[in-house]
Amino acid sequence: MKHEIIDRFRGCLYGQAIGDALGLGTECMTDEDISWKYPNGLQHYNQIYQDRHRKRWEIGDWTDDTDMMLCIADAVNEDKGVNFLNIAKHFKVWAESMPMGIGSHTYKVLTIGDYAEKPFEVSYMAWKMSRYQSAANGGLMRTSVVGLFPRETTACAEKICQLTHYDPRCVGSCVIVSELIHALVYGIEPPTRYKMKDIAKQYDMEICDYIDNAWAKTDVKPLVYYDNFGYTLVTLSVALWAYWHASSFEEGLLAVVNAGGDADTNAAVACAILGAKYGFHAIPKEYVDGLLYKETLDKTIDNLLNICIK
Ligand SMILES: [Mg+2]
Repeated sequence: MKHEIIDRFRGCLYGQAIGDALGLGTECMTDEDISWKYPNGLQHYNQIYQDRHRKRWEIGDWTDDTDMMLCIADAVNEDKGVNFLNIAKHFKVWAESMPMGIGSHTYKVLTIGDYAEKPFEVSYMAWKMSRYQSAANGGLMRTSVVGLFPRETTACAEKICQLTHYDPRCVGSCVIVSELIHALVYGIEPPTRYKMKDIAKQYDMEICDYIDNAWAKTDVKPLVYYDNFGYTLVTLSVALWAYWHASSFEEGLLAVVNAGGDADTNAAVACAILGAKYGFHAIPKEYVDGLLYKETLDKTIDNLLNICIK
């Protein structure tokens, strides 16, 4: 039993990194771009088209999504528990290192003067300044690791999202994905579509439409282009689509990556869920071995396992 939990635990964070690294290959691309640059689809890291955007990363590197997930993991490993202020500090240090691919809302929040002392107040103010409109997927893209904490999943998912993304649509997305991952990894009954909608209603009714859409669609592409690029609910629906409709890790990875849009983030969230569902052993070796910073990821996962699983 314990080794199965460990396999799904590792599968979740590897899934996130792999989805992010391969998804970079189609990030911001339309259907037409993808069929021009990848006539037979994108399947391997070494196919990643080297245009101005993509050649800033080496093949097999992940982007901001996994960087921020690792900020949370590193802070938890340091504290041997969850300290929101230390997670915020790790976010800020990372933002100040001029990372590639950082989202505009995230950058704005993390670089406001007294963020490190009052992250929740600063994050709330930034949301208020957006006239309560900003609901990007920057909280959702890093929430996988929260599902691996042994307890208080909902409270931790809410707070860690609010460190940069205050909108209830962002917070609700994070809670649903973290609770789903937690249940899958620890072998608890995963939330059904109806249970997810019950959770969603506590945050914003609009989330329910995206859950239903994910359930109903047989193809992922209409979900990717259903609404704004980078919108948290688009990423949520793509990730849930993969959970319900993909019959293997690889099938879900390739479907989401080859749909384009905000592909690195969509695939990072989708594949964290698929890794938690199918386990590390079910991830094809080439995706694991092709990750440029595999050793960093292994070290972080091993430290986190020591804290989370007794
Ligand atoms: Mg990214």
